[in-house]
Amino acid sequence: MEKLIITVAPTGNVPTIDQAPHLPVSPAEIAEDIFSCWQAGASIAHIHARDEDGKPTADPERFSEIAKKVKAKCDIIIQFSTGARAGKSAAERGACIDHQPEMASLTTSSSNFADSVNYNPPELIKELALRMKKQGVKPEIEVFDLSALENAKYLTGKGILETPMHINLVLGVPGSLAGTPRNLFFLLENLPSASTWSVTSIGRSHSQLSALAIVLGGHVRTGLEDVMELEKGQPISNLQLVNRLVNIAGAYGREIATPAEARKILGLNNFK
Ligand code: ZN
Repeated sequence: MEKLIITVAPTGNVPTIDQAPHLPVSPAEIAEDIFSCWQAGASIAHIHARDEDGKPTADPERFSEIAKKVKAKCDIIIQFSTGARAGKSAAERGACIDHQPEMASLTTSSSNFADSVNYNPPELIKELALRMKKQGVKPEIEVFDLSALENAKYLTGKGILETPMHINLVLGVPGSLAGTPRNLFFLLENLPSASTWSVTSIGRSHSQLSALAIVLGGHVRTGLEDVMELEKGQPISNLQLVNRLVNIAGAYGREIATPAEARKILGLNNFK
């Protein structure tokens, strides 16, 4: 089986220090946390930025500062979020793409979060995708629903996205696709051929679906963006979450990919 790529999503847009006491928020904290997760086996860092007050921001300078601090410490693959919570327009959400990440997230359909719209209209998706293409940034296609997979296929047909794609199946978002094995298999049945895939399972289904992805030969994402506690009332850290996945992989004989190996698996070519 292919080696396992572990992505760490250390901060996200939603968690607060009150909910997750180990949450890294400042660029220095985020970089230090990513470094310890890299040492433990993470090969991609999925990065969101916060402003001075800890609020989500799409400020490209903030993204750039985090990336510089991370690159000074390790060779982990840097993936910026262009998600709907930190900015409104494609220009705002896509500004970070010009700051040399190797990857960036690209959600290819709209859906709902628990309290807001995961707003991704066709024009915005196209604009973000073309900006990534121009900058040589590989999109990670974020799939919250089957329609996102179908739209990704449609956009490859139009030459806007390139194959092979890397697809992240996101399950367990409240108000969206539930985190069940059945839903995961349903999405997998509809994957475009030759794509690589990972699972991000939010909240309660995190352990079960992460283990399933590891056993099935997919890749996995973990971190406080996705899960803040595994047992009620027991706050967890990003490092603990990565270590758990490394241990699960070890139990099934799945080796962990280094960032260099992950770059090969994903076909990345613009590491600087
Ligand atoms: Zn994210």
